[in-house]
Amino acid sequence: MHEFSIAMSIIEVAEKEAKEVNSSKIAEIVLDIGTMAGIEYYALDTALEMAVKDTMLENADIKVNKIQAKAKCADCTYKFDISSFIDSCPACNSLFSDVISGKELKIRSIVVFS
Ligand SMILES: [Zn+2]
Repeated sequence: MHEFSIAMSIIEVAEKEAKEVNSSKIAEIVLDIGTMAGIEYYALDTALEMAVKDTMLENADIKVNKIQAKAKCADCTYKFDISSFIDSCPACNSLFSDVISGKELKIRSIVVFS
């Protein structure tokens, strides 16, 4: 499962960050995940729930900040929400646009117990 390996790497990074500040327990972690990051939110939740056992994140509050994918039209510069890479511009129907957000997959913040 793709989401499980993502959950594992999130935990790995979070534990490393916590160790750097000499903490052994993470209270909260906030993730930024774009709607077009290729992640199933439900699958990631489930994967994290399983993967945190016996880690510093076992009792951590895991928050997922869902970022709506947006594109900017290459022809008229109109910005709009997208649900796929082939959505056309609602203002001018152009098929050419640049994705400006929605591919995020990162840790926004970590709160540790000192
Ligand atoms: Zn346009």
